[in-house]
Amino acid sequence: MQGLMMDMPLLISGLLQHADRHHADAEIVSKTVDGSVHRYTYRDAHARARKLAGALQRLGVQPGERIATLAWNSYRHFEIYYAVAGSGAVIHTINPRLFPDQITYIANHAEDQYVFFDLSFAPLLEKLAPLLKTVKGYVAMCAPEAMPKANIPSLLCYEALLEKEKADFQWPTFDERTAACLCYTSGTTGNPKGALYGHRSTMLHAFGAALPDGLNVSARDVVLPVVPMFHVNAWGLPYSCALVGAKMVFPGPHLDGRSVYQLFESEGVTMSAGVPTVWLALLNHMKENRLRFSTLKRTVIGGSACPPAMIKSFQDDYGVQVLHAWGMTEMSPLGTVGSFKAKHAKASKDARDALQYKQGRAIYGVDMRIVGEDGTELPWDGKAFGDLQVRGPWVIDSYFKGEGGNPLKTDEHGTKWFPTGDVATIDPDGIMQITDRSKDVIKSGGEWISSIDLECIAMAHPAIAEAAVIGIKHPKWDERPIVVAVKKPGQEVSKDELLKFYEGKIAKWWMPDDVVFVAELPHTATGKLSKLTLRQQFKDYRLDPR
Ligand code: AMP
Repeated sequence: MQGLMMDMPLLISGLLQHADRHHADAEIVSKTVDGSVHRYTYRDAHARARKLAGALQRLGVQPGERIATLAWNSYRHFEIYYAVAGSGAVIHTINPRLFPDQITYIANHAEDQYVFFDLSFAPLLEKLAPLLKTVKGYVAMCAPEAMPKANIPSLLCYEALLEKEKADFQWPTFDERTAACLCYTSGTTGNPKGALYGHRSTMLHAFGAALPDGLNVSARDVVLPVVPMFHVNAWGLPYSCALVGAKMVFPGPHLDGRSVYQLFESEGVTMSAGVPTVWLALLNHMKENRLRFSTLKRTVIGGSACPPAMIKSFQDDYGVQVLHAWGMTEMSPLGTVGSFKAKHAKASKDARDALQYKQGRAIYGVDMRIVGEDGTELPWDGKAFGDLQVRGPWVIDSYFKGEGGNPLKTDEHGTKWFPTGDVATIDPDGIMQITDRSKDVIKSGGEWISSIDLECIAMAHPAIAEAAVIGIKHPKWDERPIVVAVKKPGQEVSKDELLKFYEGKIAKWWMPDDVVFVAELPHTATGKLSKLTLRQQFKDYRLDPR
């Protein structure tokens, strides 16, 4: 027997329609490329997204075709999100921090038809346009008077396109499994692989992310996603915020500590989200200038392990709650978020702190397990660590065009799991902790050493700004850990002092064999430590055989 409820597909356009009808005057504020502040409402955004959808139709964009963006977080980018997916095409958000030949590869692989770009990227596109084989036109996200004098073929103006349209575009209804957004993983080996999200998966993710134990966003929030809209859809916030009617604040390209802080204060931001490196810059700015947050209540930190020292600083020094989150491009991206259960209310501060250092609990929609090398499931005792696998309606089934191999593993019951490539423990409360990327685990004398644990300790030292721990070949132990660290400006610490700092915090055999101070650590296009590059830099490094 079938249920007798309305059969309405879960479509992304529905989110903006909802925000228009029920949160018409909630604001969307953007700091633009030229530094000015643009301010309008969900109702305005919906009207302009409908105009843009009309313009796409006039340009001949067909359902399923890919429309790329090279853009910062802004109201125009937000409009493109909704206009492209809402009209049945696919938005492909390109990470402009990738190497130019990677951008060329993914734009050609995606067969992008149009590229919408912020003016900062005009010089890049001048160089790349001759190499982008399928692109019919480039749309500069600006007004006619700001059009770049760049040598870009088939150059169109965003505001001129909208000018010609009326806001009467009717969002089409189609199968909710239709593709909506395409994001490429910044793979460390081989070509980037495309994760193609559908309307249904994106909508379910938007619901899951908004939950109180997810990112916890509501109509009472003012949300500033520092995480870029070109990095896994800014962790879904442009969807979850429309779903709940939260005010949104977009920082544009201005991600330095001072600019972010000013925007927090001037717009009354209550909630933010970003990778640890961005928060490092903000916290330094706060400390140097003895500043306080007047409205910020919580921030989501993810994308790479958040050092406990950063969590402590936000919470203890500034009263801002940290939600430590874990996810992947292949998971749309949200998997787990660190939040307490009722039973933790009476736990000591130390115990609660320790829980927050972990990556958190699965939000509904994501199931996970850890398996040993032979594929058997490991216990949830908080000690056993193994390969982390996940499944759920917003987890990848296969890569775009099938290129990237079959990513799934099937268990003894025929259930399919996506192996994340992360190594983790899960405790009896279902709280997960990442100990490493499987490629970064340090194997010493047949045992595993967690590079993340050792990095977190180094970063808790008051003189250390950032640290990476990698395994170095060792004739006797196979691999041994070394710390590569950046000192805070004006601070001093010696190798021996840093090693002493580890004493009593780890098992003796985890003690790093060496410390190397550097001016800077390599990062990937998504702001994570690039251990691959670091290992390359240290490939000729030799340890004293002991
Ligand atoms: P990406 O697909 O570029 O977002 O990268 C996903 C990977 O980032 C994951 O598989 C993890 O290795 C890493 N990652 C994301 N969030 C965290 C976190 N909170 N702690 C540790 N690693 C993380």
